[in-house]
Amino acid sequence: MKKSTIEFAGDTVGVAYRLDVLRFSGSRSDAPKAYLQAALHANELPGVAALHYLIPRLEAAEAAGRLAGDVTIVPTANPIGAAQYLFHEHAGRFSVSSRVNFNRDFPLPGADGSIPLVALDAPVPAERRMKSLLLDLARGHDIVLDLHCDDEALSYLYVPAPLWPHMSDLAAALGSAGVIVWDETSDAAFEEAALLQIGDMRDGGVDWPSKAVSTVELRGRADVSAELGESDAGGLYRFLVARGVVDDENVALADAAKWSGTSEPIEHVEMMRAPAAGTLLYHVAPGDRVKTGDLLVTIIGAAGETGGAVEVRAPQDGLILTRRVHRVTRLGDDLLKLVGSRRSAAARPGTLDN
Ligand SMILES: [Zn+2]
Repeated sequence: MKKSTIEFAGDTVGVAYRLDVLRFSGSRSDAPKAYLQAALHANELPGVAALHYLIPRLEAAEAAGRLAGDVTIVPTANPIGAAQYLFHEHAGRFSVSSRVNFNRDFPLPGADGSIPLVALDAPVPAERRMKSLLLDLARGHDIVLDLHCDDEALSYLYVPAPLWPHMSDLAAALGSAGVIVWDETSDAAFEEAALLQIGDMRDGGVDWPSKAVSTVELRGRADVSAELGESDAGGLYRFLVARGVVDDENVALADAAKWSGTSEPIEHVEMMRAPAAGTLLYHVAPGDRVKTGDLLVTIIGAAGETGGAVEVRAPQDGLILTRRVHRVTRLGDDLLKLVGSRRSAAARPGTLDN
């Protein structure tokens, strides 16, 4: 393993950021190459815990000559977001400078197919230079996994349509409960930019079954522990063995054909939003199955008063995939994701969350 540290200037005098990159050298040039990063949303750390346990396994494989394909790992992908503390709270999802989500606005190919990456010393804000850097680091890899988490959630994956159901091997290896398949756009998330760097989604010439690109949602923000990190590392390692990046005959591979989670197109996800402001009482938790009309959430606007609370009910049968970690809501804020089996009346192109 070779570690390199890339430094880039911040936007103000005296500020610079450092990004560590770990590179493992595979022994076969024809083996698939894998890129993994974590904490692009800097307050989502289950992926860092998983990489903490995966990296020594890859080092051992490399030392034993069992690493077939190159692996590149960026354990903490967003030093800008990592430094954003406001009033003792960590704000790692949006740039406080631009208010742009750190996982949106990645450079996508232009009309001529070229990707408008900017150099690390280009005269543009640091977050744009960092996004170009991450995309450039992921270039040339067949497998690109961006490790995130939700607020409170089951383990689930976002997968681009050309890669599904081929990527059920990743869902099986990680024990993912759900897979959300998207096809139009993910609002220039890293996943979309990394995918388009491999090939156009509608390009029949790309060998999609040999590729894997995903935003991996490793449960919720508080699900960071040695036990979960170790088991997620085991899942990632199993997947890398299954794909031929690592040779390890001592690993029992997950049977992708037996994966029994819920996979639905993104249009089938009900992104429930708050019809009123107030205190949240959740009646469901991730993993619950609900029927149309079931009570999901009560929002208390005027405590104890007749008519002082609003009920939010399930618009269709489905699986509760996520809910918010906070217990206060503004009007219009996201409350939970319910994965149904038919198109949501509120479905729109792009990502589910802000
Ligand atoms: Zn995230």
